[in-house]
Amino acid sequence: MKMNKRIYLDHSATTGTKQEVLEEMLPVFTTNYGNPSSVHSFGRDAKKLVDQARMRVAKALGALPEEIFFTAGGTEADNWVLKGVAYANKNKGNHIITTAIEHHAVLHTCEQLEKEGYKVTYLPVDSYGMISLEDLKASITDETILISIMYANNEIGTVQPIEEIGKIARERKIYFHTDAVQAVGNVKIDVKAQNIDMLSLSGHKFYGPKGIGALYIRKGTKILNLILGGGQERGRRAGTENVPGIVGLGKAIELATENIDSHNEKLLKMRKKLIDGVMEKIPYTRLNGHPEKRLPNNANFCFQYIEGESLLLNLDMKGIAGSSGSACTSGSLDPSHVLLAIGLSHEIAHGSLRLTLGDDNTEEDIDYVLEVLPEIVQRLRSMSPLYEKVKGGK
Ligand SMILES: *Cc1c(COP(=O)(O)O)cnc(C)c1O
Repeated sequence: MKMNKRIYLDHSATTGTKQEVLEEMLPVFTTNYGNPSSVHSFGRDAKKLVDQARMRVAKALGALPEEIFFTAGGTEADNWVLKGVAYANKNKGNHIITTAIEHHAVLHTCEQLEKEGYKVTYLPVDSYGMISLEDLKASITDETILISIMYANNEIGTVQPIEEIGKIARERKIYFHTDAVQAVGNVKIDVKAQNIDMLSLSGHKFYGPKGIGALYIRKGTKILNLILGGGQERGRRAGTENVPGIVGLGKAIELATENIDSHNEKLLKMRKKLIDGVMEKIPYTRLNGHPEKRLPNNANFCFQYIEGESLLLNLDMKGIAGSSGSACTSGSLDPSHVLLAIGLSHEIAHGSLRLTLGDDNTEEDIDYVLEVLPEIVQRLRSMSPLYEKVKGGK
């Protein structure tokens, strides 16, 4: 029955935890609940599980286990990198390079550092959301201590030339961090081959639990600790380990990287159907983000003459869950900083819709969206005096 149908197309906001992941986590709550710092067998068992998860994360990234540190999510990992590298390398310089389209976890931390006297360059992006390597090279100064550029954008899906950025950073001996929260499970990552010094990831974006993430820190990187307290995580990140979360993260990243090819193939097929269908059926529509260099699950549109919020509410009434801008910006009336950065006007940016596919979606879901969405857009436009005028003039 169509009325009861619920279709989740907001996988970039979060994903559900996979059954196999949950099954590995459950005994850690009830029977294997030891504290990894304890010397007894309960503690040793828990420590073994944490070590196993660390190995799984390391393997997925091409890193060493001792280069993986668990955090409470992507936001903490981003905060840790920016503050930790800025404070630890103050004597070397005070300049950080990032982009205008980062997640707020990076942008708001950079703003805080600016208040503390650091200088931050926010690289612009082109209309596809891509940075220019020439801009990057030109912005490097003798004071530059860190380049932090996201792997893939959470709103428009654009994937940056990470390997090339890594090469530039390495040549100039500047640390390179990438927020890969959206990339893990969608893109193949190899921190060594790509010259990545630090990388943030988050469990709930690839079918693991919420509130757990990790930061990869290349051996030898100068970075201060962010969370102080006990000696957990080899003295680098204090606080009793979230053992169930860590176990879940380890299982989820293993599944996500093992299945990456079949996952991508399925998503790309569905996404093509979705994008082609929307562009064909709905006039005055723009596809945001890069046509090819984008996450396999991301479709982001702007529909002229309508308001994204009313579109979302109408879709929700039909059981379709999408998003306008990122989960963090929805609820505010400002258009997304990402859509403004790719050069859209406030007016156009307000009519945006992000649909992000996931492993639980089917071709039938796309058929349903292609049936419902054009009707809703048409109805909302018929209430817009501007649209009536444009139509009348044609
Ligand atoms: C979701 C997200 C984050 C934040 O991760 P949390 O684990 O939710 O704190 C950071 N960066 C990007 C690109 C994201 O999509």
